[in-house]
Amino acid sequence: MNVLIAGAGPTGLTLAIDLARRGIAVRVIDKATEFFNGSRGDGLQPRTLEVFEDLGVLEKVLQQSIAIPLMKIYLDSTMVDQRRMAEPVEPTPDIPYPNARMLGQSRTEKILRDKLSEYGVAVELDTAVVGFAQDDDSVTAELSTGETVAADYLVGADGGRSFVRKHLGIAFEGTTDESIRTLLGDVTADGLDHEVGYWFATKENPMAGIAMTPLSGGDQFQFGAPLDTDDADTSIEALQELVDRYAGPGTAKLRDLTWSTVWRPNVRLAERFRVGRVFIAGDAAHVHPPTGGQGLNTGVQDAYNLGWKLADGREEVLATYETERRTNAKRVLGISEDLLQKHVDGDESAMERGENTRQLDVSYRDLSDTRPIASGDRAPDAPLVDAAGNNLRLFDLLHGPHETLLRFSPTTPATHPHTVDIGTTYSSPEAFAHYHATAGDEILIRPDGYLA
Ligand SMILES: Cc1cc2nc3c(=O)[nH]c(=O)nc-3n(C[C@H](O)[C@H](O)[C@H](O)COP(=O)(O)OP(=O)(O)OC[C@H]3O[C@@H](n4cnc5c(N)ncnc54)[C@H](O)[C@@H]3O)c2cc1C
Repeated sequence: MNVLIAGAGPTGLTLAIDLARRGIAVRVIDKATEFFNGSRGDGLQPRTLEVFEDLGVLEKVLQQSIAIPLMKIYLDSTMVDQRRMAEPVEPTPDIPYPNARMLGQSRTEKILRDKLSEYGVAVELDTAVVGFAQDDDSVTAELSTGETVAADYLVGADGGRSFVRKHLGIAFEGTTDESIRTLLGDVTADGLDHEVGYWFATKENPMAGIAMTPLSGGDQFQFGAPLDTDDADTSIEALQELVDRYAGPGTAKLRDLTWSTVWRPNVRLAERFRVGRVFIAGDAAHVHPPTGGQGLNTGVQDAYNLGWKLADGREEVLATYETERRTNAKRVLGISEDLLQKHVDGDESAMERGENTRQLDVSYRDLSDTRPIASGDRAPDAPLVDAAGNNLRLFDLLHGPHETLLRFSPTTPATHPHTVDIGTTYSSPEAFAHYHATAGDEILIRPDGYLA
């Protein structure tokens, strides 16, 4: 089997790693002539950290990222408060990574590309998909290089302006709000402490201000400020003028601007996520306002949901990609839209992040099923102790491209190749509790860590 992935952003790269580790031939092409070097999607949610652990990139992500920083709030140049978007919480037996991490998107992508290269796959730059056709058995894609590629599946992970989505004729319903414009950039700021973040605004309008969020791996901050004019000047002089206006002249001297852009809130959802052998994922299928830090994370989850289904290949399995992920994207868009509205309304709680942004509560369960844990729910982690007294985690045994059969106090020999017996091979009262299990129960866990 072979899969062609158009787009080497976080979505395409995650999918490519998941397929490559299954031994599936994969090509990842990207229209860009060089790798993206900005920080834009810099919040990695707890569920994404779990996916990254399974894909073998978590260690690097944790090393290179930082915790959500403390933000110092300045109004009219006086510090009035210090707070975090979310207070850190301790890991629990079922949730090993409860806190989001901050890592500039280009650095996340570099970590993913390095992992992909371990499977011998390199991203092919300057190579766009420019046309394709499909029949019942394959997809034939035309590339900008003049090459024609035959593949079993084509996945459009080609971003918000997705060529693949447009070529399929899929509607992308929603809105782009031209009235809200934000200037963003990665820049060094002499005079500011890089250990913390800053919010500079006025007493008169405390919710409209400049955010300076420290970026890991250097001395840069991600700069974000509202634009009240039509002019789209993204130069360092324009950023400096805004810092001087909101923080007071002399507070910070900006230098080394390596990326900047003007951003408009876009909230859109594709009508379909699949036509035959062609799928769309990530921003190609849904675009979010950055409020809530959901876009990149939702794309990673799309890819992780799709990888094992493409490998499986059965129609009844493939069909669940659209139903599961489109329903989820709709829900997540609602969360980020609500947060965006709070920003627009000047609501102070717009800065706070709750449970629903961590993506640990993503579930594909049938909503009429009211059991405490049911098919479609995320498989919780649990500490295990083996017969020799060694400590390990259930997640250690779920990791890899396979599904896993969890059995509780079984009395028969295992026949499934990936069986984990709790209560016999491993002791784990926590697993009994988190899975609401009693002796004799068997629970099949999908390769993407949801109950089958
Ligand atoms: C300011 C800002 C802040 C954000 N903050 C967050 C955050 O905190 N957390 C979060 O989760 N998300 C955040 N996001 C969103 C996040 O950046 C995106 O959701 C994410 O980049 C989507 O990844 P993707 O791989 O789906 O698409 P992209 O990253 O857009 O990648 C698509 C790729 O496809 C390539 N391509 C395009 N057309 C073709 C073609 N025809 N053929 C081949 N390749 C093609 C492009 O060159 C590109 O490399 C933010 C976004 C912005 C703008």
